[in-house]
Amino acid sequence: MRVLVTGAAGFLGSHLVDYLLARGCQVVGLDNLLTGSRRNLAHLPAEADFEFVQADVRDPMTIDGAVDGVFHLASPASPLDYQKLPIETLEVGGIGTRNALEFAGAKQARFLLASTSEVYGDPLVHPQPESYWGNANPIGPRSVYDEAKRFAEAMTNAFRHHRGVDTVIVRLFNTYGSRMRPADGRVVSTFAIQALAGEPLTIFGGGRQSRSFCHVSDITRGLVLAFESDLAGPVNLGNPRETTIRELADLILVAAESDSPVAELPLPVDDPRRRCPDISLAETELGWSPSVSLEEGLPMVIEHYRESDAKAGSARCAAAGVRMTTR
Ligand code: UDP
Repeated sequence: MRVLVTGAAGFLGSHLVDYLLARGCQVVGLDNLLTGSRRNLAHLPAEADFEFVQADVRDPMTIDGAVDGVFHLASPASPLDYQKLPIETLEVGGIGTRNALEFAGAKQARFLLASTSEVYGDPLVHPQPESYWGNANPIGPRSVYDEAKRFAEAMTNAFRHHRGVDTVIVRLFNTYGSRMRPADGRVVSTFAIQALAGEPLTIFGGGRQSRSFCHVSDITRGLVLAFESDLAGPVNLGNPRETTIRELADLILVAAESDSPVAELPLPVDDPRRRCPDISLAETELGWSPSVSLEEGLPMVIEHYRESDAKAGSARCAAAGVRMTTR
């Protein structure tokens, strides 16, 4: 099996590449390195069945030879990144997804779209089943990501029904693990770096908002199960354990053995108040559920940052960056 992974040099993409190679796939990884990094793939041995193509998914894709599957992950994914790159994010979700679908159609490859829990916006239904249409603001600060992914889902559906492409849509909830950029502004990386540096953990909005954090190893396993199934989706992949940001801060302080204080900052505009996946569909149709608890996964992240000797200041800058747009 030869597969293409778009966004292969990113946090999730690089873990998926590892998982696919370990399963004996030939992998072509495509990335424009806008938010990804070659460092995330540097550990691959020279003999690995891996080929890297530096290209932008907004350009038509040309890859010679047979391709049996396309995992379309490419996109800025952290709120900090996509608010800095609004046009690019919309184009990647729109033009990039169209190009990836055209490519999958031409190769007669199965196509997996990595969509997001952000399609549910600031949800009014808890937990969120796939049948919920969401409560998303089309012009708010998060809209470039939310609407790009909603458009990508619609485009994927159109190619399925009008061009006969074999597709599956997967909605990913918050994912964490090693290789998240220390300054990507996301809460797990930011708190981990702050805790290690003994700096205050920047809790927005009192930390009463919730997320559901899933370890990247569980998500890569779920992506491949969805790809190997005959589901069209959408199917949620995420950890159904709902955690407030305040609880997460406490867990990270314990994992890092840190006595950092917390600093309260205002809640960014349109920051969803609750988010928790209903994973019944993945459980019944894919036999999938997460196996790594936060108590097991967070120490792994801390260890990763200890080893990579990340610099503390960068996370603080990230937390203060785009999120200045507060209520
Ligand atoms: N968050 C926080 N402090 C930070 C970064 C994020 O309290 O330094 C909060 C943020 O407001 C949100 C949650 O953590 O409610 C998750 O944020 P993240 O950017 O990781 O992901 P997303 O908002 O896309 O789920």
